Amino acid sequence: MSQFFNSFYRDLDPYTPGEQPQDKKYIKLNTNESPFPPAPGVLDIVNRKEAADLRLYSDPELKPLKAALAETYGVTPQEIFVGNGSDECLNFAFMAFGGDGMAYPDISYGFYKVFAALHHISSDIKPLNADFTIDPSAYFSIHKSLVIANPNAPTGLCLSLEQIRRIVEQNPDHVVIIDEAYIDFAEPGSSAVPLTGEYDNLLVIQTFSKSRSLAGARVGFAIGNKELIRDLETIKYSTNPYNVNRISMAAAVEAVKDTAYFSECCQEIIRTRKYTTDALEALGFTVLKSQTNFLFARSCDITGKALYQSLKERGILVRHFDDPAITEYNRISIGTREEMETLIRTIQEILSA
Ligand SMILES: *Cc1c(COP(=O)(O)O)cnc(C)c1O
Repeated sequence: MSQFFNSFYRDLDPYTPGEQPQDKKYIKLNTNESPFPPAPGVLDIVNRKEAADLRLYSDPELKPLKAALAETYGVTPQEIFVGNGSDECLNFAFMAFGGDGMAYPDISYGFYKVFAALHHISSDIKPLNADFTIDPSAYFSIHKSLVIANPNAPTGLCLSLEQIRRIVEQNPDHVVIIDEAYIDFAEPGSSAVPLTGEYDNLLVIQTFSKSRSLAGARVGFAIGNKELIRDLETIKYSTNPYNVNRISMAAAVEAVKDTAYFSECCQEIIRTRKYTTDALEALGFTVLKSQTNFLFARSCDITGKALYQSLKERGILVRHFDDPAITEYNRISIGTREEMETLIRTIQEILSA
């Protein structure tokens, strides 16, 4: 830290992203990216003409993307906020709605505590149940806003829509933020987006990074009552009005429009998730019931850290967390069927060595 660093930020402990090593080619199963390329229309739109147009500012209102999302999700454009990744949507939501503090689970997306610290928002951290599920009643009448990843990460477990509804109804005076980064891999009917029309204190956040193969484009969005959305726009226009660049917006529009490609990619991930779960269980692993594009799994024959290291030496990256509560687990993103077959073969080799 330099002597000039603003003392307001002195205690910040920034988010640690998953490794993106450049030393050799890994099978990358550590950051929950899609193994599939973006929709064909995305590849066509990212062209010389779009590049030439980079001399112009992007559309601060992001009209074409909001229109496409509105049609897809059955809401109006005024009920949609678009951010530079869902991380930006979450950051703005912490700023906008964290005035009385923010509650979230102890084992969840690591960025929540960073956003809270960044904005000096007090954190009310709720323990998970022993089986890693979230206890909805811990979030009833808490008199502060809250954020829950649903399905949760890194556990992969999902609350039911009725459980979400209860949490929203029990906190009418604060905002309930549901981070649905993985919802497209969950059972149909799990998304809380339809509830946003019923409750003016519900904000649902989704991303193009996982199910739409656009992690590098940085596009996420929030759906909620138009007054909540207006608050997020206030923060955005006080921060970075051109928050989503031209090429990313054009890419996102194409990705939303290609519903057939989108659902084929999601279905393939779900099929491969089943294959990998069964194969890991056959090797003696405990695997939580994933509703996402990753598995959270532990072996009784090797520690979480040792498995992570052995896999890395053999060219496969998974995500290991040092938190003692989950240190025996690894989070393994679902890649292509072929990548997962290689993973299983490699784990067999490691276990029999
Ligand atoms: C990946 C992820 C995000 C961030 O997504 P971006 O849109 O890439 O910023 C947010 N929340 C959870 C739970 C995630 O896993």
